[in-house]
Amino acid sequence: MRQGIKQPYLDDLVTASAIDTILKHQPDLTLIHLVDMDSMRHAHGVQSDEAHAALKRHDLRVGQIIQATKDAHVYDDTAFVLLGDHFQIDVSKMIRLNRILRIVAG
Ligand SMILES: [Zn+2]
Repeated sequence: MRQGIKQPYLDDLVTASAIDTILKHQPDLTLIHLVDMDSMRHAHGVQSDEAHAALKRHDLRVGQIIQATKDAHVYDDTAFVLLGDHFQIDVSKMIRLNRILRIVAG
């Protein structure tokens, strides 16, 4: 299912693993970091077709995880907290501080 860290395979694996764990073990706490959309935004731009497609995949994955809690009969005892790891905008220039520091250091 996984192809290194390539998306969407990595997040598909993470989601499938979470669903399997919820169904088999009903853990008290599950923390998941889905990075598909972030990766697509970094690689293709915030408003790119790839980022929008990743957002739709993200929505499906969250829905599958919520459904898993229903199937495992723990939905009513579950609180879902969804966070973004950072805000993001497209940029046209990048400053590579390490190159500057290397030049300054000689
Ligand atoms: Zn990022």
